[in-house]
Amino acid sequence: MLKKIYTQFPGGKHKVLTLSYDDGKVPDRKLVSILNEHGIKCTFNVNSGLEKLSFKESYEERIPMSEYARLYAGHEIATHTVTHPTIARSPKEQMVLQFIEDRRALEELLKVPVRGNAYPNGSFSDEVVEAARASGIAYARTIKATKGYDLPTDYLRWNPTCHHSDPDFEKIYTDFLDLHKTQYLYLLYVWGHSYEFERDGNWEIIEKFAKKVGGKDDIWYATNIEIVDYLEAANRVQVAVDGSFAYNPNACSIFFQVENDTVELLPGRITEL
Ligand SMILES: [Zn+2]
Repeated sequence: MLKKIYTQFPGGKHKVLTLSYDDGKVPDRKLVSILNEHGIKCTFNVNSGLEKLSFKESYEERIPMSEYARLYAGHEIATHTVTHPTIARSPKEQMVLQFIEDRRALEELLKVPVRGNAYPNGSFSDEVVEAARASGIAYARTIKATKGYDLPTDYLRWNPTCHHSDPDFEKIYTDFLDLHKTQYLYLLYVWGHSYEFERDGNWEIIEKFAKKVGGKDDIWYATNIEIVDYLEAANRVQVAVDGSFAYNPNACSIFFQVENDTVELLPGRITEL
């Protein structure tokens, strides 16, 4: 009989939580401290060409790039283009430059590959997607809420579950905590801007959320790129036709559910299933 073999998240989990916050403004400092307290991971989408802009309100100021590595340690830093244009309206000659120059500047600063993106103002088109792909961008987030828990079908058109100001936000994350069917992989993907909490005087939204969803044994807390990299690695695993063994060619462990058991496939090894 054919064995049931499913990909699991690291540690044999089947739920993942990720966040995506844009623009790299000063209230990110408070957001990071709230998330760190509860072990929640976030991707921060930043613009390398806007550091010197000044604003009326202090919460609109951007964080100095020299602070990025320390502040965002343990999280992901991703591109949000150099100057935040509504990029689908930009000349196509500038689309690639907006991605690749932001990426280059961030990589020079951080000394790690930067492969994520959130489309500024949620703007994209087929041409923009091609420009992102040509710039080596592995995934890019839109602002179209799915209100669901499915994994993305197209990483360069990655629709989040919802914004934190969604009227159903609390119900959406409470329902996520209750999901238990291990035959599915579930993703809760929340996005926003930290300055909105400051501007709207509602930090309690994210504090309550972090307290409720943080520190759960059955949730994998991951950045956006960690999800993409893990799932792509899982796809590279070579499984014997009869399901009796699998070869993991990756440099990281991959977890499979085999019938009712979790099996860890160690990197570079053949493992019996
Ligand atoms: Zn933005």
